[in-house]
Amino acid sequence: MNVLVINCGSSSLKYQLIDSESEAVLAKGLCERIGIDGRLVYQKTGLDKEITEAAMPTHKQAIQMVLDALVNPKTGAIASLSEIDAVGHRVVHGGEKFAASTLLTPEVLKTIEECNDLAPLHNPANLIGIDACKELMPNVPMVGVFDTAFHQTMPKKAYLYGLPHEYYEKYKVRRYGFHGTSHSFVSKRTAEFLGMDLKNSKIIVAHLGNGASISAVLNGECVDTSMGLTPLEGLVMGTRSGDIDPAIMEFIAKKENLDIEGIMNVLNKKSGVQGMSGLSSDFRDLQAGHEAGNELATNAIEVFSYRVAKYIGSYVAAMNGVDAIAFTAGIGENVNLVREKVMSYLGYLGVTVNQAVNDATHGDEAIISTADSKVKVCVIPTNEELAIARETVALVK
Ligand code: ADP
Repeated sequence: MNVLVINCGSSSLKYQLIDSESEAVLAKGLCERIGIDGRLVYQKTGLDKEITEAAMPTHKQAIQMVLDALVNPKTGAIASLSEIDAVGHRVVHGGEKFAASTLLTPEVLKTIEECNDLAPLHNPANLIGIDACKELMPNVPMVGVFDTAFHQTMPKKAYLYGLPHEYYEKYKVRRYGFHGTSHSFVSKRTAEFLGMDLKNSKIIVAHLGNGASISAVLNGECVDTSMGLTPLEGLVMGTRSGDIDPAIMEFIAKKENLDIEGIMNVLNKKSGVQGMSGLSSDFRDLQAGHEAGNELATNAIEVFSYRVAKYIGSYVAAMNGVDAIAFTAGIGENVNLVREKVMSYLGYLGVTVNQAVNDATHGDEAIISTADSKVKVCVIPTNEELAIARETVALVK
């Protein structure tokens, strides 16, 4: 079965065509600057990347260009659109309505729309992508895979905020968590990779990308995660602050004469390791800065790693122990310095580091703790597109 995986944002759209039997990517790419000018990146596996600058005023036109590229007689990955058997859509926020992936029926789409309030930047864009695909491929089954679904197993004590209860009742203000597709994929793969029984395991997944979150997965179910109502809570990220004293908002707003939007912009886009270092949100730049003696870059790496270690400690408490810790996403998979710093706080758990393997691991699966380490620590590359394709096949078959 060929599954087209779509991750649609407000002005961009990422896609992959995956053969579900072999799990091979047949082609992938992205549309950028939708509604502005337009740029299609397309790559059939085994061939060079093609970049086409072309007007794509709407998402429907962008998806039409993707479909045209997929069936292009020279560089297409399939001969005709009838070879697309299903479409899997990433949907950011499923609120409390979706604890699992689901077929996108008209009723389901209405329910997703009801969650727009909770993710005003993301959900409407996801829905636009779904509508466009439905128009262009009316007979192809479509599935929604939610970032929040995996975390719906969190107990009340983990998801309620210390706020007046009426805000939960009236507006559903609670912790939801994000990156669920990745946390689910990586926790399952961790158990498999380490030969553990997922149903009888305590796993902590550290998804450290530009957006970063961490989760506690007990017997295969999420019991806590660091992102909240929005992806702003928790770890220090590329440009997001993560946890701060909420009173800082008023303090800075007054000093800098900012309104609430201005403050939110600072917390989402100008903070994190970018804001701390004044250098970059990218760990390649921060590492270079650190090696060149840039103190602010060093601070950013230290604060980032320390925050991860503190969350791990709190999730060990939440699960009354831990069997395995998995690092994933851009930083987790590639930056051995961050992994080393995080692990340096975990000696009390009986974590001992295999320094040579940790230093040599960049983007591959590996066990980076020693054979006699009490807690196994590993690197497990995430693959959200494959996870979406698998979920889609499971519902369509
Ligand atoms: P997202 O999907 O949230 O954009 P990713 O998981 O792709 O994030 O992670 C992107 C981040 O990972 C980059 O900003 C950078 O900090 C880091 N990263 C990716 N590759 C490398 C690498 N080879 N070396 C160091 N850092 C890397």
